[in-house]
Amino acid sequence: MSLPSITVTGHAQKEAWQDKVLPPVEHLGADVWSIPVPFPDNPMRYTLSYLLLGDIDAILIDPGWDSDVGMDHLAAGLRQVDLGPSDLTGIVATHHHSDHLGMAARLRKASGAWVALGENEVRRLSASGDPDLFLRSDRKELTLWGVPADRLAEVAMDKPALTHLQNLAYPDLRLSDGSLVPAQGLNLRVVATPGHSPGHICLVDEPHSLIFSGDHVLPRISPHISLELPGPVNPLADYYESLKVIGFEDAMEVCPAHEYRFIGMQRRVAQLIEHNRERSAEVLRVLENHQPGTVWDTARHLTWSRGWKSLQAFSLRLAVSETASHVVYLRSQGHVIDVPVSEPYPTTLR
Ligand SMILES: [Zn+2]
Repeated sequence: MSLPSITVTGHAQKEAWQDKVLPPVEHLGADVWSIPVPFPDNPMRYTLSYLLLGDIDAILIDPGWDSDVGMDHLAAGLRQVDLGPSDLTGIVATHHHSDHLGMAARLRKASGAWVALGENEVRRLSASGDPDLFLRSDRKELTLWGVPADRLAEVAMDKPALTHLQNLAYPDLRLSDGSLVPAQGLNLRVVATPGHSPGHICLVDEPHSLIFSGDHVLPRISPHISLELPGPVNPLADYYESLKVIGFEDAMEVCPAHEYRFIGMQRRVAQLIEHNRERSAEVLRVLENHQPGTVWDTARHLTWSRGWKSLQAFSLRLAVSETASHVVYLRSQGHVIDVPVSEPYPTTLR
């Protein structure tokens, strides 16, 4: 089925995306700037960080992956408006992933700015959590999902990855659904949009007619909706709900954290719903035709953009946990599916 397409507005960004280079810093009108921050060794290539200036506040949305080169780009972008990292007063991450929250700790140190996350965002493991216990239960679940013993080390979380997550900035502020980001002269409304992560938020700037959509809605790719343990019981159901919530209008410019800006939130939401429905239908067909006994067996019969065999390490983990999220969702829709997945348990680790 072909649905109405979106209207690209970030032309320089789209060109840069196609040319595989970093897009330019852009002034989006009024006191809003888009600053690309490199995301090294990742196909996404960059995070679009947004600077908003209020009366006395300088707020940065999604500071990006923590690296020296990223910091250089961010500082160069800020210099274009005669600011430096030490001038920031607040940092908002749309979610806790490292390509969004990563640089927050370094920037907070440089500026004393507060760091804010959505009130329902959870960390996989708090600084005080027991990493060994976490790693053991992760492997146990992946084994239940049918990950073969000889691929387990590749797919499972390891200590360095966990330490990296534990070192991400702990937020000073928690933003609740419907509240305003505390910055004078700005009107940034928080919209809770769980799915890609449990506490993902979008920020709506009505006066500038902008929506900062994080990874919830991107113009080209469909964000990963993964089952994580600990984590929400049914992340795909949450995602559908959050798409309906953010698809409230079509005319505002959408400022995503990757790729390029566009107009047409309702149109993009319709495409993303359709995409996920098709994926669920494909999972059902695999279950019917191949009777897989595990999540792994289901995943290897699904179509993947570069083929199942090309998936390795973290992308393989994402593929398997995405399949698990469809299994859980389909079961919640009344389908009887004989593929074991543990009952997800909500985390108290904040
Ligand atoms: Zn991201």
